[in-house]
Amino acid sequence: INKRIIKAEKMEVVSHLASSISHEVRNPLAVVRGFLQMMQETDLPIEKRKEFLKISIDEIDRANDIIRNYLTFAKPSPENVEILNIKQELERAIEIIKPLANMNCVEIATNIHQSYVKGESQLLQQCLLNITKNCIEAMPNSGVLHVRTEEKHDQLLIEIVDSGTGMTEEQLSRLGEPYFTTKGRDGTGLGMMAAIKIIELMNGKIQIHSKINVGTNFEISLPRVSIVNEQIAATTEE
Ligand code: ADP
Ligand code: MG
Repeated sequence: INKRIIKAEKMEVVSHLASSISHEVRNPLAVVRGFLQMMQETDLPIEKRKEFLKISIDEIDRANDIIRNYLTFAKPSPENVEILNIKQELERAIEIIKPLANMNCVEIATNIHQSYVKGESQLLQQCLLNITKNCIEAMPNSGVLHVRTEEKHDQLLIEIVDSGTGMTEEQLSRLGEPYFTTKGRDGTGLGMMAAIKIIELMNGKIQIHSKINVGTNFEISLPRVSIVNEQIAATTEE
């Protein structure tokens, strides 16, 4: 009986996920379709063409984000767990987020040390990108994004700090709630939900402090893996 109940619950989660994904991805798809249709017009000015292309690409990115963030909940446990070099992981995430930072005139200041944690690289990337993206979006007209690490006993601390808009206490308490967004049509309200879930999957913790017009501080702590040199060599070999 127990088994059947568990299976029924899982089915319910999956069917809820499926309907949420299809509902939310339909919107960006419809927008892209509309713009592609308009672009069939042969006498469309080049500026219009460029504008429609940009909107279409943004909407496809949005659909991709929605699917990726939802899928965090579809997989019961990560599949490709390995020992991750946190310095490499953070540097990769910063590389990816840099164009967005440049667009907002945001400077990225780092103080990152070599350290190791266990997890799935793709999921950790998604978590880091969701958080840093929010930070940069909270600094639309310049600011500084600080990323630093610190080893504390058996934990690795990752601190991500922005000098952005900050959040009210009410907003802070709703952070991670599905669909909670203050970005209107530009937001999905799924990024922090997925980020928090990923940290949980890695047996980590996250603390968030925020002050309106001062900024927000994300403190992630993950269980540290202390490994000998041979193992490092084995896991960093390409
Ligand atoms: P989205 O970014 O699509 O709105 P998220 O789940 O990533 O969804 O974030 C939810 C909300 O939390 C944001 O809309 C914003 O109001 C708030 N938030 C998240 N990170 C920050 C931050 N670094 N600074 C200020 N507000 C933030
Ligand atoms: Mg976000």
